[in-house]
Amino acid sequence: MARNNGNGTATLTRGGSSRLSSGTTKGKSGAGKKGKRVYFFGNGKAEGGAHLKDLLGGKGANLADMTTVPLPVPPGFTITTETCGEYNDAGQKLPRGLMEEVRKNVAKVERATKKKFGNPKNPLLVAARSGAKFSMPGMMDTVLNIGLNDKVVEGMAKLTGNERFAYDSYRRLINMFGDTVMGVDHHHFETELSAVKKDKGVELDTDLDTESLKEVVRRYKDVYKQHVGKPFPQDPFEQLEAAIEAVFKSWMGDRAIRYRELNDIRGLRGTAVNVQAMVFGNMGDDSATGVAFTRNPSTGEDEFYGEFLVNAQGEDVVAGIRTPLDCKTEMVKWSAKAWKELLKIKDVLEARYKDVQDFEFTIEKGKLYMLQTRNGKRTTAAAVKIAVDMTKERLIDRPTAVLRIDPQSLDQLLHPTFNPKAERTVIAKGLPASPGAAVGKIAFTAEEAEERVGKGEKIILVRRETEPADIGGMHVSEGILTSTGGMTSHAAVVARGMGTPCVAGAGSLHIDTEKKRLSVNGKNYGVDDWISLDGAIGEVYEGQVETQEASLTGAFKQIMEWADQYRTLKVRTNADTPNDAEVARNFGAEGIGLCRTEHMFFDVLRIHTMREMILASDTDGRRAALAKLLPYQKEDFVGIFRAMKGLPVTIRLLDPPLHEFLPHNDQDQVALARSLGVTPDQIRQRVQQLHEANPMLGHRGDRLAVTYPEILEMQVRAIIEAACEVKKEGVKVLPEIMIPLVGTKKELDYLKTYTDETAKAVMKEQGIKVDYLYGTMIEVPRAAVTADEIAETAEFFSFGTNDLTQMTFGYSRDDVNSFLPDYLKKEILERDPFQSIDVGGVGQLIRMAVERGRSVRQDLKCGICGEHGGDPKSVEFCHDVGLNYVSCSPFRVPIARLAAAHAAIKQEQQASAKKSRKK
Ligand code: PEP
Ligand code: MG
Repeated sequence: MARNNGNGTATLTRGGSSRLSSGTTKGKSGAGKKGKRVYFFGNGKAEGGAHLKDLLGGKGANLADMTTVPLPVPPGFTITTETCGEYNDAGQKLPRGLMEEVRKNVAKVERATKKKFGNPKNPLLVAARSGAKFSMPGMMDTVLNIGLNDKVVEGMAKLTGNERFAYDSYRRLINMFGDTVMGVDHHHFETELSAVKKDKGVELDTDLDTESLKEVVRRYKDVYKQHVGKPFPQDPFEQLEAAIEAVFKSWMGDRAIRYRELNDIRGLRGTAVNVQAMVFGNMGDDSATGVAFTRNPSTGEDEFYGEFLVNAQGEDVVAGIRTPLDCKTEMVKWSAKAWKELLKIKDVLEARYKDVQDFEFTIEKGKLYMLQTRNGKRTTAAAVKIAVDMTKERLIDRPTAVLRIDPQSLDQLLHPTFNPKAERTVIAKGLPASPGAAVGKIAFTAEEAEERVGKGEKIILVRRETEPADIGGMHVSEGILTSTGGMTSHAAVVARGMGTPCVAGAGSLHIDTEKKRLSVNGKNYGVDDWISLDGAIGEVYEGQVETQEASLTGAFKQIMEWADQYRTLKVRTNADTPNDAEVARNFGAEGIGLCRTEHMFFDVLRIHTMREMILASDTDGRRAALAKLLPYQKEDFVGIFRAMKGLPVTIRLLDPPLHEFLPHNDQDQVALARSLGVTPDQIRQRVQQLHEANPMLGHRGDRLAVTYPEILEMQVRAIIEAACEVKKEGVKVLPEIMIPLVGTKKELDYLKTYTDETAKAVMKEQGIKVDYLYGTMIEVPRAAVTADEIAETAEFFSFGTNDLTQMTFGYSRDDVNSFLPDYLKKEILERDPFQSIDVGGVGQLIRMAVERGRSVRQDLKCGICGEHGGDPKSVEFCHDVGLNYVSCSPFRVPIARLAAAHAAIKQEQQASAKKSRKK
């Protein structure tokens, strides 16, 4: 076959199958019958069912299930995902015996429909559609109208009395088969279609008469022969076999692989193929095809939300080629009967699947058929509203509602919206396809978007319509704007899935991709112009409209309250300023897990004194400079203690190597010398002296305090003075003094003496006592291994998993990007260990340290403050390993709260499942 699968396919195929053969999927797919590759459904009966999603894919499992409801599903069969795995394992060869099984099932479909595949007198046509366990909209291939050939098309014409329809279907088959199966570029067919339309003086495909369509078919067959090198196949089984193979092949196509990467879809065997009797929405004005959601996927409102096209085939709606009609307002005018039936189906689907359904239907000469149903992709705002509403409607319970919200997706709700008071000039209106505020410069192609975002620009991707190949550019853009297509067009569906704001079908825009020009109402905009999009109301504005922060209200607040009822893990925040602390508290932070004190020294006023301290030639000089820094530090801590109102605050003492604070270029060094009254050479010498070949493993962390205890003394004094002051105001304070980068108990003991003595002295001066804890970060593998010794001194552990990951793998945090992308692409690593905890290695060190630490200090408080504290998968791990809290950046606090609830609910569910199995 001519289809190109791109580089890396072989590696991925091997990687995928070897992992899977020992992995989970195979085990689960054992739920099907051994050796059985094809599952039939039709006329109220089905060999498969909703429980076989691993094996039959989401679409296949639901087609089987809907058949048994019974809902009006055209009969067909599903070839399993396991067969796709076999196909790839065998170097892309269909397994022996498959086509015999297919033929037997085609015969069953023939009996169910009373039609015959390839028989011109009463022809059966079928569709072959992909369908993996998780939906991957538009990523894999579909071929419709299989079974048509020169003879059958004539038979179809006679039988239906609709010659135009028959030839319209035939030209679609040749085009789709040529493009999808044989890799002939779609535009070769488009060129011929446009030429015929021009000859006939018509604009729309639907305006072409029968003779014109016959001409299109002739031209398409020529295009096919010219590019494939042989005529369009007349044998229906040859067509079917090639189509099945093309669907299997599309699983390993570049765009499908990219989609799985972006959506973290792993461990699947392949796609299923659903072969199903065709029904026709293009049989005339009493026929239609449409896509609908049982609730509004953009807002979550409980309203029928769908679109349809009269006299069209299914792909026309999704591809966004023609702008469809709104079911809610238009369908009743077209057919009151169909509208009533659809409303009933909406209720049946929700009652059965207990979730929002996204379904496709076709109405053939007034009769309605269901072509698929699946859980609908929705924005996070909609997901949250739907989960809360469905709980109130008693369709689902609270734990299910909480589990329905993907923690990471809350990110969408934490993003800004436009400030309602901000000035704005509307330049166009379109459909509110995916909510949110986006501001960026215009890019006209997906590649351009990727390239410019890589250079640090903020981009709005502007396209007539998007297509699956645009996925990379869509992913990196702030927002997406299209001039054609509806609410279920590719751009709309994908943007909602990604949580990217999108305005679709803004028809007044003229987009010239070649000239990189967007024109509207006589004005032109180019690559240097900013625009803003409001995806919630479908408006496009000129320039950069001002945005405002999000807040936790309504259904969002409700779901978070429910989440808090289930979670046992506390959530703190990493915050260095009173403002960050305040934001985090509003998002529900229960303390500060990491206050990085060095950030406080970078302020213009302070950095100067900091440099003076570093450049001092003796302890007295250092002490003098530190005395100047003390009031600043104290002021920051006072602000933070006040903002946290009695919640614990973990303050880490100075961590980075000192040379990070010094200027490295000549000009700055000269300026510094002048202001300190020393020579530039003295500065250069000190910079050189502090230079380290490997600073991350050098003079940093507690090693600084061992060399310069006066730095620790100043910081401890600032903490305790601030705590005394705030306590005197009547606010409870819980300082936790944290020593970074410890590797041995002795280091910790040595520094404890200085800490306790300073604290004692301050309290005496202040005449008030404050309780504080003395603890350490676990960032060095040696500290994890000797955690029992360290816990004799440390009253708490906080896992600094950024450094712990660096030192466990031996991957430099700063240089990892030179090789990590290859490790991910080649699946040597499943995910970036700096984003999601490496459970098998770093995770084991954490587990060991917690166990060893608590073996000597039962109530040892353990938390995590590396980047992983806000990553949902890592949060689940932290729950399982028994940490007391996770700490993350303020905007990830709600994500961590929800992830912690997921972990607790899942653990509870597993425990009760185990219990009931025992019984
Ligand atoms: C860590 O190492 O995980 C940590 C939180 O400290 P930093 O990132 O500041 O080194
Ligand atoms: Mg660290």
